[in-house]
Amino acid sequence: MAEAILEIDLDAIRANWRALDAHSAATVETGAVVKADAYGLGMEKVAPALAAEGARRFFVALAEEGAALRRVLGQGPEIFVFSGHMEGDGPLLADAGLVPLLNSPEQVRRHVTALSGHPFGLQLDSGMNRLGLEPEELGLLRADLPEAPRLVMSHLACADEPDHPMNARQLAAFREMIRGFDAPFSLAATGGILLGPEYHFDLVRPGIGLYGGLPFAEARPVVRLDLPLVQTRALAPGEAVGYSVTWQADRPATIATLSGGYADGILRALSNRGRVFADGIPCPLAGRVSMDLLTADVSHLKDVPGLFELLGPHQSIDDLAADAGTIGYEILTSLGRRYRRVWRGEGPAGEDAA
Ligand SMILES: *Cc1c(COP(=O)(O)O)cnc(C)c1O
Repeated sequence: MAEAILEIDLDAIRANWRALDAHSAATVETGAVVKADAYGLGMEKVAPALAAEGARRFFVALAEEGAALRRVLGQGPEIFVFSGHMEGDGPLLADAGLVPLLNSPEQVRRHVTALSGHPFGLQLDSGMNRLGLEPEELGLLRADLPEAPRLVMSHLACADEPDHPMNARQLAAFREMIRGFDAPFSLAATGGILLGPEYHFDLVRPGIGLYGGLPFAEARPVVRLDLPLVQTRALAPGEAVGYSVTWQADRPATIATLSGGYADGILRALSNRGRVFADGIPCPLAGRVSMDLLTADVSHLKDVPGLFELLGPHQSIDDLAADAGTIGYEILTSLGRRYRRVWRGEGPAGEDAA
């Protein structure tokens, strides 16, 4: 079989949630961000595992994701929608019992008009200039809010850089904006949790750290990806490999052709840059990553294994991201649909006994 095998460790996700939860005081609630299909790993398995571990508040980007998450989790957990209340979202928000994080005066008006009495939260712009109410906008509409928001939140632009002055600036701006509000507050995602207690407020909302990525350096790795060997071939000096012949043998070489390519989310930027591992031995990619295949120089191997590790104990999502000029988030959310997905560990506690 040429299917590459993607192993996803639910126990590691649960352990990462516990570890991040332990970074804040017992009075601080730890939610879970499961947008983009739980960062590409599969919301249907990941969200129930997190709920079993104790997560009660979940975050998605779109109302449609929230509706799908409600079907997975059932009634009970609170589901917040980062994009707020978009035109046409009313029925979805109402039917699935989702809490939109309103982002603009227009969204606030839309919400109170279309869904009067339905809970909402507010997203404030503390300096990132991406989403959220500006201080003046908040000042103008605050007195007219029909009821207390379920959550008042903002997002940090540089939380993965602890020494960046933007962190303290946004903290001060957020504190100023929430003064006098009667609602739970949230500022920290994974990076913010690690910045320390003054960033925690009432609720923290980690995403990437749950899935084993930086900036949570102590995270347990969650994914392992192994690519099957399709064939090896011997090259004479001067022969070249792959599209546009970008790699040329300067000595007799052995090239391994592996199943997995950019259609599977193995970014083409890894061409001639990334590495795979053969029983722990690094093998540089040789030539372009193509749609279904990649090629690696295995001339130095005594034995060529049947499977090569692209992600796993020898190469983290952030290692691979560095070679591709991106971040671990993009490696995860690019993981393809063609992999055979194998779930390790226990999902919800109820399944443990089986
Ligand atoms: C994606 C996202 C998060 C989670 O961020 P991580 O860095 O993955 O922990 C939290 N809050 C908002 C608003 C987000 O968009």
